Amino acid sequence: MKDLAIILGIRPDVIRASKILNLLAESSEITYDFIWSGQHYSDNMKDVFFSQLNVPKPDFEFEIDTTNDSTIVSSIIKNTYEHLDKNKYKAVIFLGDTNTVMGCIGVIQHNIPVVHIEGCMRSYDWRMPEEKYRTTIDHLSDRIYAYLDSYKQQGLNEGISENVINVTGNPIVDIINDNQKLFDTGGEHLDDKILNFIKNDNFTLATSHRRENILDQKSLTNIVNLLNQSESKIVFPMGYKTQEMLKEFNLDLKSNVLVTDPIGYLEFMYLMKNSDYVISDSGTVVEEACIIGKPSIQMRHSTERPEVYDVGSSIKFDPSEEIKDFEIYISKVNKLTSNEWKQPFGDGNSSEKIVNDLIELSSTDTFNKHNRDDYAYDVSNAFKE
Ligand code: UDP
Repeated sequence: MKDLAIILGIRPDVIRASKILNLLAESSEITYDFIWSGQHYSDNMKDVFFSQLNVPKPDFEFEIDTTNDSTIVSSIIKNTYEHLDKNKYKAVIFLGDTNTVMGCIGVIQHNIPVVHIEGCMRSYDWRMPEEKYRTTIDHLSDRIYAYLDSYKQQGLNEGISENVINVTGNPIVDIINDNQKLFDTGGEHLDDKILNFIKNDNFTLATSHRRENILDQKSLTNIVNLLNQSESKIVFPMGYKTQEMLKEFNLDLKSNVLVTDPIGYLEFMYLMKNSDYVISDSGTVVEEACIIGKPSIQMRHSTERPEVYDVGSSIKFDPSEEIKDFEIYISKVNKLTSNEWKQPFGDGNSSEKIVNDLIELSSTDTFNKHNRDDYAYDVSNAFKE
């Protein structure tokens, strides 16, 4: 029996958890299985990140039905449940707020403790499916790693026990600190199309994949109008669904916007470091920009990461609003000067804190005991007569 299983399933999971996975692999004090849920499956959304960040390949990969959200979630739950029939662990770890974390239902059905990395973040926008997912897994978790004290407070406000929540800082800081040299040489991985496009000119880096933005015609039109407002060049590594929706809505980007398929992490971070600023609706990309000192426009109606506004590294652009003046966003972001803010996300030791805590909990067998003793309830009894 291995001590732990960690179940991940999307691009930013591999990036953010890369050091945690490596520390777990190096540790002689703990054993684990790495399971890939199957949510992202193409080479440029998955495998490239394992090789670039030297992450051990998954021990198991689920075969799931990716037809729609319900089939993805239900098949991840089923696969998780059946995997746990054959493999026992002291706890199963999830990260974030996507379909993959709903696999925790298959874990609690076995009455195995759930660990949630990136817990207690809240946008307080109940229309976001991610808000429902993260709230659900937090309330089912026996150990939550919250990145910031403010997130812990949000969990406490919902009645989550203080014993459950451990504040660790955000592991994306660790990844950025540790990989600077690789980012500097990341341009070597860029294809000629992008290199020839940017030459020595100034440029902006853009991404957009959030469903509330790309599936809604008005929002996607606003995003296209914002990008078309820019005088400078824009490199836009674009997710496949976004590419599809641009065609569907007949939206055209100007010739100063280069659209490519998603690219690897090292070349993406190389572009970010060399860009003037970033335009994105990605949670991780605006954090990364804030950490490396790049201004950003965050294209979101609501966010669970308000810190980028608080420290002044990001301008809010809400694509769901009626927008008349697009220029104002570009002019505002151009006024943000890098390094005027202090990144608020952590000291770069988050992965280590998480792994040390996992080792301690596993070695003392406290996973089953320490957190919820006061109101322990054996779920397995619920299924008996
Ligand atoms: N990223 C990348 N290549 C790309 C676009 C993004 O490596 O073409 C990285 C980016 O640096 C960040 C992560 O992927 O670390 C963000 O993923 P995404 O926007 O899909 O997820 P979110 O953070 O919104 O959950």
